Amino acid sequence: MSDDGTITDSSATGEAPVTTLATPIRVDYQYTAGLAQSRYLRGMAEGVFLGQRCPACHKVYVPPRGSCPTDGVATTDRVELGNTGTVTTYCVVNVPFQGQSIEIPYICAQVLLDGANVSFMGLLQEIPTDQIRMGMRVEAVWVEPDELTPSLASVKYFRPKSEADADYETYKEYL
Ligand SMILES: [Zn+2]
Repeated sequence: MSDDGTITDSSATGEAPVTTLATPIRVDYQYTAGLAQSRYLRGMAEGVFLGQRCPACHKVYVPPRGSCPTDGVATTDRVELGNTGTVTTYCVVNVPFQGQSIEIPYICAQVLLDGANVSFMGLLQEIPTDQIRMGMRVEAVWVEPDELTPSLASVKYFRPKSEADADYETYKEYL
């Protein structure tokens, strides 16, 4: 083996070294959402983002985890958030991979919903990849009402909203 970990064929056969090995792997698993995320997912089925507010620091978590990591208390107050938010950071995906369902290049963005204190990752569409920028205002595009399910698939993607970018000061704490 060489210094970079590559296995080379040192035999006299002249065969090319084995550099990759494709192995089909499948893992089935069940995920227990718990109380807080179950409420969030039921919100998805209704076409709304449901978060929870910490009674101590008043931060709004979406998706909620059921407790505030800062204060260690349960977040029981339900908060219904709007459909709009701000792109805090983003990544343009140019690399193809197996099982990819979205045509590259595409944008994964961290979206801070208005009124929330944590951002989450969302797909951004309806914009050329070279026009994405931090602070861009976006809105969620939901599936048709009869296609809503208690899953993240209820949000098709986010798209730009025709309004001025958010001031950096308003989202710099959430990068
Ligand atoms: Zn808190």
